Amino acid sequence: MAIYGEGLGRTEARTASDALELFGRRPRWMRDGLCREHPEVSFFPALGESSEPAKAVCARCLVRDVCLAFALEHDERHGVWGGLSTRERTALRRLRRAS
Ligand code: SF4
Repeated sequence: MAIYGEGLGRTEARTASDALELFGRRPRWMRDGLCREHPEVSFFPALGESSEPAKAVCARCLVRDVCLAFALEHDERHGVWGGLSTRERTALRRLRRAS
């Protein structure tokens, strides 16, 4: 079940960590997420907004793998998680299903 998809799209959350904190469901590994140090970067870019700044932060994040695994496990449908956009995570899921 997607956590972000539970109505968080109507919040001001800019990172996965912010979004999950609103529900008191932030996993411990998110404390080490580099996105927490970059409040200027949106990890839930608006339509037409680039996701590249978020991906650049993720590329240097120590918990990138676990973040991506979490998003895939919870079927997160919004935002950049583990360096991948929604579309990229969907493609990865399809690839994994096909193999
Ligand atoms: S991989 Fe990206 S979204 Fe996930 S915790 Fe790290 S910086 Fe944040």
